[in-house]
Amino acid sequence: MLKLSQKEYSEIRRHGEETYPHECCGVLLGQMDGAVRTVTSTARCSNTRTDSPQNRYHIDPKELIRIQRQGREHGEDVIGFYHSHPDHAAHWSPTDLAEAHWIGCSYVITRVVEGKADVTNSFELTGTDEANKAFVGETLEVR
Ligand SMILES: [Zn+2]
Repeated sequence: MLKLSQKEYSEIRRHGEETYPHECCGVLLGQMDGAVRTVTSTARCSNTRTDSPQNRYHIDPKELIRIQRQGREHGEDVIGFYHSHPDHAAHWSPTDLAEAHWIGCSYVITRVVEGKADVTNSFELTGTDEANKAFVGETLEVR
């Protein structure tokens, strides 16, 4: 389960509207307590994909390390990632799964239709390693 405040929920959806028709992407920081992840802040990333930014995203590893360091200074861990699907379902793609490596983290996807954020879903990356990892839909609780 992923818990986040209305403020963070609005922020990640707004980010998708701003980058439309390209995908947005970012990091979710917060606390992990067993199966419950609680978001305490979000960090926007620039989508470094230049070949096909409308249906792919990529976070610069250096940017991710910087966000991870800054989070730790505030007692926050990386607990997930978010990105948008311009004019596509709020469901993970085979590429999303192939490029997801943070087992136990949440992957939030927002469908943006004609510039407006629509459905937002969250998936937990489950499994023990790259060979058996899988996305499982999870409850997204907005408080
Ligand atoms: Zn995707």
